[in-house]
Amino acid sequence: MPTVTLRNIGKKFGRVVALTGIDLEIKDAEYLAILGPSGCGKTTLINCITGIVDISEGKIEIDGKSVEGIPIEKRDFAMVFQNIALFPHMTVSENISYAPYVNDIPHVELKKIESEMLKLVDLLEQKDLYPRELSGGAQQKTAVARALATREKLLILDEPISALDYKVRVTLRYAIRKLVKDLGLTAIHITHDQEEAMSVADRIVILRAGEIVEIGTPQQLYSSPQTLFTMNFVGESNFLEGVVTEVVSDHEVHVSFRNNQSLGLKNGDPHFEEGESIVVAFRPENAFISKKSIGNSLIGEITGKQFIGGYIRYTISLRTEDEIILDSRLDIEPHGNIFIQLNPQEARVFRAPTYGLKKVLTLE
Ligand code: ATP
Repeated sequence: MPTVTLRNIGKKFGRVVALTGIDLEIKDAEYLAILGPSGCGKTTLINCITGIVDISEGKIEIDGKSVEGIPIEKRDFAMVFQNIALFPHMTVSENISYAPYVNDIPHVELKKIESEMLKLVDLLEQKDLYPRELSGGAQQKTAVARALATREKLLILDEPISALDYKVRVTLRYAIRKLVKDLGLTAIHITHDQEEAMSVADRIVILRAGEIVEIGTPQQLYSSPQTLFTMNFVGESNFLEGVVTEVVSDHEVHVSFRNNQSLGLKNGDPHFEEGESIVVAFRPENAFISKKSIGNSLIGEITGKQFIGGYIRYTISLRTEDEIILDSRLDIEPHGNIFIQLNPQEARVFRAPTYGLKKVLTLE
């Protein structure tokens, strides 16, 4: 079973630095997602692992052995691409059994692999159809089955479902994760879609401008991100810039915002000092809205209200001159002042970034 180790990987295309200082271990049987905005280096990273491009710096090891000098056809992996590249003149079955056929697997064994794969991806009924006769989802399932039929233990998925409709994507991402886990594969899945990464992966690597920003489980990255970039990129967030006016204790600080608005918040890791500029970040579901005046709250007015289904999304204009979004099950009249209390366990306080909040949050 493959463990993939990347040691200080760098890749330049002429003057363009696509990757720098990538240190990462993808464990045996782990499902790892590489998530980042367009142009952050996801494809280049995959291409370095597969050998499609040569690395400029560093070392890649698979199961402890360097892959330097090993050409792409000798590196053991199976791959699924965004642009489904099925053989158009072959049926689903023939596409799936292509790799075993090329590898001279005896006919009986080949048929066994074929029917096992058809069953795994639930395409038995469509086995004699040609790619043009299949839906987008069924085509991509065929591509996954064709990759799995190689019997490789390292599966690389490059935006495998990005081109499909939302509902098909949701069904397929569960199906792919289940297959990977049932077969005990190591999977590297690249995507720009944070919801997709969260739903398939054991761990997610956040990549930005060729560098790793943060690595963690979906829960860690959502609930306790270590950076403002992750807080913004994974899930939705509100950001309020303020100043620490008082350090009450090791556990509590007072923070003031524009127009004399203030809050008591958790002092923690890192510890803040009086006078420090900070950014308070919180998820739309981590605040409580009340029409009645409540302590330790911010004042605002509802400027937008959308019924989403299980909850209502409010757009709120705060007295701090910030606009925030909040989700609540409560149906609140939009007229007059409202009071917003942050959940102290869930609100995150970050040091204000040197180059400004906007620059840190930008996805470019
Ligand atoms: P996307 O999600 O849009 O596919 P990505 O995260 O996969 O983007 P890459 O395609 O890896 O990003 O590109 C990373 C950087 O390297 C970009 O600045 C890109 O322009 C540059 N780059 C990638 N391939 C080449 C190449 N062959 N020649 C020159 N520059 C390249």
